[in-house]
Amino acid sequence: MYMEMGKSDKKRVLLKIGTNTLTKETHQISRGKIEDIGRQIAELQDDYEFIIVSSGAIAVARQFVQLESKGKEINVKQALAAIGQPHLMRMFQENFRELGLLTSQCLLSYADFKRDKSKENIVNTMNVLLENNYIPIINENDTVATDEIQFGDNDKLAALTAVLLDVDLVIIATNTDGIYTKNSMDQEYKSTIAVVDSIDVLKHEIAEGKSSHGTGGMHSKIEAAEILREKNIETWIVNGIGDNFMLNAMQGLSSFTKILNRSL
Ligand code: GLU
Repeated sequence: MYMEMGKSDKKRVLLKIGTNTLTKETHQISRGKIEDIGRQIAELQDDYEFIIVSSGAIAVARQFVQLESKGKEINVKQALAAIGQPHLMRMFQENFRELGLLTSQCLLSYADFKRDKSKENIVNTMNVLLENNYIPIINENDTVATDEIQFGDNDKLAALTAVLLDVDLVIIATNTDGIYTKNSMDQEYKSTIAVVDSIDVLKHEIAEGKSSHGTGGMHSKIEAAEILREKNIETWIVNGIGDNFMLNAMQGLSSFTKILNRSL
């Protein structure tokens, strides 16, 4: 049984932040970006509670480790993730603490969303963390799973988590101003699709579009949005590179793609 304690009156937001955003498209995790995320959460925390799904473990490890292996490349990445994850968490912890924010780590894999007992444990743990103002920072458990390392950039993990935790809004931070129209991509200018209420429209837009949409491309983001829309959760795909990207999106000061939930 899921515990009775549930959501507070605050709007529950899941922020998914990929490696390309966290590094601001460099080879280094940006402390400034982590601080920017923390500052925005601090500003919004009276009305919103946050769950973060963050990549970046492999990228942190690559900053200071080069592993030797005769084995498969994927296993090297898993090992790098194991080395990098505690460093990534330390960076979140140090930066967020300065802002009065508390952090916690949860490592999950797709398989955990298939077992009732695991799902129950995830919900109950998260609820206790959130009730006590500890921000859950989630990553794939890369020792036991490779789904998101191979393809996905944690987008699907974020969607599965958001559905399980019944969030109100998912913000996927990436390195483009949302999803661009196919026409604009073909013509080599970039025009953002602002609001959609059909996943098919998005699928059509990226069907033959050029792939300047960042590391994992837009496919995994649209797959995530499809899972979320099915469960009536709104998804925003925003450019997370600049400062205040969530605040700006909320205030209508930036171009991003909003995928409406089905009730609207
Ligand atoms: N769990 C991986 C990491 O934190 C995700 C890899 C990715 O985002 O591509 O590095």
